[in-house]
Amino acid sequence: MKHHIEMGQWYITHTCNLACNNCLSYNNYKISGHESWEDNEDFVKAWSERVYIEDCSIIGGEPFANPDIHKWAMGVRKYFDTQDLKVCTNGTYLDLHIDNIKKWIDAGIVLEIQHHDPMHKEKIDIAIQQILGSNTNKISGKEWHGDPDYYEEFDEIYFVDNRVAIVVVGTYDFYTHTINGEGNAELTHKLCAWRDCHYFYKGGLYKCGALVGAQGMLDRYNLKNADLIQQYRPVSIHDNDLETRLTSLKYSVPQCAMCNNAKKIKKTFPVGIKKIDYEQHISSSSK
Ligand code: SF4
Ligand code: SF4
Repeated sequence: MKHHIEMGQWYITHTCNLACNNCLSYNNYKISGHESWEDNEDFVKAWSERVYIEDCSIIGGEPFANPDIHKWAMGVRKYFDTQDLKVCTNGTYLDLHIDNIKKWIDAGIVLEIQHHDPMHKEKIDIAIQQILGSNTNKISGKEWHGDPDYYEEFDEIYFVDNRVAIVVVGTYDFYTHTINGEGNAELTHKLCAWRDCHYFYKGGLYKCGALVGAQGMLDRYNLKNADLIQQYRPVSIHDNDLETRLTSLKYSVPQCAMCNNAKKIKKTFPVGIKKIDYEQHISSSSK
């Protein structure tokens, strides 16, 4: 029997064109680099034989920045027959991918747009028109009474032929989020909004997006918590105790101490697009 994972995301790029303060996976810093589909297809296939993912997404960074985005979307669809497969985007590149998005919708993939700045919404609405044409039927999340129930959290739900095609969610609150924290791992984990959202990256299954983004940060910066981050070992499909390790994903890890993500904060607009260097950020925040 396959292991049931409630929320699993395929992280396909460190690159993002925005720089939202407190980004979970540190893509607001100058980290970059894509995962090619060819390098990852065998992992996707192998995991599909061992796990069932209820809420399955392709994510980054900004996944549309990855030149292989179409291969990723159709490839994950091929191996995972989950009802809820989404490509998650900040919505700023939609106009470059209209034809591919139509193919995804035909294949039962849902486009999830999280617009991070109200200024982007008008352009997103135009792109949705181009994708769906006059064939649009839209409800708000509050009107959703279907399965999966978490769709009620979206602002807008668009249908094609009575199937969900596109969901849109607007700006939301962020949490303070660091990589140099020395907090109480257990408490931070308890307060963490992302503790049950696990990430696949380079074939491994990670506790969360912060630990995946931290790999990109390690490559570029000298981090105070470098040793702690390097000690983390993602779940491998080859682990002898695979079932035990998958079950343990729900628990805190010592690396939760780095996050300090306990405090909910309001986002500020406009969202920046100019990446900052981590060292620059640290020196300015310590003044
Ligand atoms: S859009 Fe913002 S929150 Fe999303 S990955 Fe990019 S920097 Fe992070
Ligand atoms: S490392 Fe722990 S506290 Fe930090 S985001 Fe991941 S699960 Fe949450």
